[in-house]
Amino acid sequence: MTATCPECAAEFTLDDVMEGEIVDCPECGVELEVISVEPLVLELAPEEEEDWGE
Ligand SMILES: [Zn+2]
Repeated sequence: MTATCPECAAEFTLDDVMEGEIVDCPECGVELEVISVEPLVLELAPEEEEDWGE
């Protein structure tokens, strides 16, 4: 299925994704969370998903 990046508006194909999955936009590299699969909805993933430490 085709997804559209909410950050850069690039269209790309995603296969076998699940709700809650994090994918990277192949164009701008931003992390996107799969909000819904049917229809496919992507949103920018929260930035603080990983603790990088200080
Ligand atoms: Zn993008």
